[in-house]
Amino acid sequence: MADEARPTRLLILGGTGEAGALARALEDYPNLEVISSLAGRTTGGRDLPGALRIGGFGGVDGLAAYLATSDIDLLVDATHPYAAQITRNAADAATAAGVPRLRLLRPPWPEQPGDRWQRVPDTASAAQALTDYGRNVFLATGRQELAAFAQLTDRRFLVRLVDPPEAPLELPNATVVTGRGTFEEAGDRALLQEHAIDVVVSKNSGGPGAYAKIAAARSLALPVVMIDRPAEPESETVVDVEAAVDWIFHHQDTKTPRGKEK
Ligand code: NAP
Repeated sequence: MADEARPTRLLILGGTGEAGALARALEDYPNLEVISSLAGRTTGGRDLPGALRIGGFGGVDGLAAYLATSDIDLLVDATHPYAAQITRNAADAATAAGVPRLRLLRPPWPEQPGDRWQRVPDTASAAQALTDYGRNVFLATGRQELAAFAQLTDRRFLVRLVDPPEAPLELPNATVVTGRGTFEEAGDRALLQEHAIDVVVSKNSGGPGAYAKIAAARSLALPVVMIDRPAEPESETVVDVEAAVDWIFHHQDTKTPRGKEK
């Protein structure tokens, strides 16, 4: 049984701007220990207050075991809207371990007047949709999705990655630019023009960090193939850091010994 006099231990599943902002917002809060967890796919985002752990847990069972052995009282899943596996694992592991869980999920970007979006359900459909558009494609989907486009040997890809690739890309005809948001609309417009881009492929990440390419495409009347978000497990959900802080403080006040929650 957890010692109710000890600090509340909070695990933040991160890899997003919101996860970092949450850890920083809680930095000086008394009687709270924050552990941020990153998958470790990129080199950035590690300059955080509190404790940091990096790498997978080993599926649902691994995460459930971590929650138990590390005496985690509260879990905030602040992972990216497209990180579907860890979000499913977090839901199942928190239930198994009896740890209250909150989903911090930024709202998607709304389509605006002047946008030319084609919405598709997944990455494979995005690759198929490209046959309707011109040759030069800006792929801003992230490293892991590139293989889905490898069959399109008649296309030229401009790929933006967070870190320079360590191995050759699975894509033919790809030019890589690196950068970490927040991006500016003027910069992204210049990039699209410089590479004579015909179509942009994007996830609907939401938030300000990656929106510049969407605004830039609108200003150039370029089409955007927009990949829909994956389904989310049923969760208590908030859309911003402030609301997540409120949830944490509420649960800290009403903390019951771990494993006793309904
Ligand atoms: P994913 O497919 O949902 O997760 C794959 C596996 O990576 C998970 O099963 C887990 O391994 C491990 N993992 C993911 N996030 C983790 C975390 N915060 N801490 C510890 N382990 C984690 O995830 P993904 O789409 O590859 O994204 C990886 C990370 O990058 C996420 O943390 C996400 O927030 C961030 N990110 C993703 C995107 C995106 O477009 N997908 C964009 C920006 C940032 P085990 O099963 O071994 O525990």
